Amino acid sequence: MGKQEDFVLRALEERDVRFVRLWFTDVLGSLKSVAVAPAELEGAFDEGIGFDGSAVEGFARVYEADMLAKPDASTFQILPWRSGDGPSTARMFCDIAMPDGSPSYADPRHVLKRTLSKAAEKGYTFYTHPEIEFYLFKGEHADGAVPVPVDRSGYFDHTAQSKGADFRREAITMLEAMGISVEFSHHEGGPGQQEIDLRYADALSTADNIMTFRTVIREVALGQGIWASFMPKPFGDQPGSGMHTHVSLFDGDQNAFYEAGAEYQLSKTGRQFIAGILTHAAEIACVTNQWVNSYKRLISGGEAPSYICWGHNNRSAMVRVPMYKPNKGQSTRIELRTIDAACNPYLAFAVILAAGMKGIENGYELPREAEDDVWALSDRERRSLGIEPLPTNLSEAIRIAEGSELLAETLGEHVFDFFLRNKRNEWEEWRSQVTQFERDKMLPIL
Ligand code: GLU
Ligand code: MG
Ligand code: MG
Repeated sequence: MGKQEDFVLRALEERDVRFVRLWFTDVLGSLKSVAVAPAELEGAFDEGIGFDGSAVEGFARVYEADMLAKPDASTFQILPWRSGDGPSTARMFCDIAMPDGSPSYADPRHVLKRTLSKAAEKGYTFYTHPEIEFYLFKGEHADGAVPVPVDRSGYFDHTAQSKGADFRREAITMLEAMGISVEFSHHEGGPGQQEIDLRYADALSTADNIMTFRTVIREVALGQGIWASFMPKPFGDQPGSGMHTHVSLFDGDQNAFYEAGAEYQLSKTGRQFIAGILTHAAEIACVTNQWVNSYKRLISGGEAPSYICWGHNNRSAMVRVPMYKPNKGQSTRIELRTIDAACNPYLAFAVILAAGMKGIENGYELPREAEDDVWALSDRERRSLGIEPLPTNLSEAIRIAEGSELLAETLGEHVFDFFLRNKRNEWEEWRSQVTQFERDKMLPIL
């Protein structure tokens, strides 16, 4: 047993931990948890805790159901909402292994780790910094009811006795208590809509942090008698909730996207990385934007991107190179605006990195930047600039993904097949719905 495992075993005693929750994530990005008694932990570190993988979305076929959850001691944290003065509850993220100890091909955390090590072979570490948006609603969720936002405020609004500000304060305190640093927070554009931005970290830590974040936000909301949702587009006439993610590659302690004196301080590596993201944007969309509802957010308006292009400080662009500070080369990064917070962060970061790395490996050329508001251009103008649309619905995204070598290679055959099968079913289910919109529009006239 290593140092970190020893530290955990000691902390269990010192903090009077009675339950340790072992966390992992299914293929669609839902958090799974099994609680073990502290006495089981030594065994869990050595051999893992057995569970039935076939009962977890996307994990295994029934005839190879046995799997092992192996806690990653470096992710040990006390859960603040479960620990008052008395005994406490802790959690660790797990890696999932097959009975022979090899990593499970279905574990999203493994998919990301595998992609990170490929980049590491080329000398790169991948950093991410997500800006997470979500809505807060009054009362409890009820099937069929239209949710009521907790306030009527808008972007950056500062109002007295604001529900949103109280919420953000408690949520951020709890995140910080769990070792998750928050950089900014504010009211977003929609009523009841909030944004909290996490400090940049290596992509595996960020993906773990996003899973924790979604849990903390839901817990704090319920504690305050309200509820939270990361649904990409809960209202047709209000902005959706995205998860713009700033990304950079480091080569040792040097930011590989930085080049002093280059346009926007952006190195050739940075330009090729953006080119990779743009070239493969349509293929990876079904992972970065995985729900039927995700595509309702990507409709012009509400500041979400609809077209595949990049720009400097152009908020209609899908990839944005943010304003740079001449003396802060190490903070050079690009902002990817497609991704939403209802994705599986492990898979989404894996496909983003893989797309960017393809750009570097194959020396892709970066097309001209978009200087106009691309939403305001006509289709013809966009075409003449070589700007293609993102998939406009899940069905289109699936069709493009099906032919993607990059996606099959990055996700691995099992996750690729499961994911696309699951998404096809979701689309078919959606397609068979007859909506109120159709009834209102068509019943009176047809
Ligand atoms: N809510 C917008 C989106 O869905 C983003 C707004 C912003 O620029 O932060 O992408
Ligand atoms: Mg925002
Ligand atoms: Mg942003």
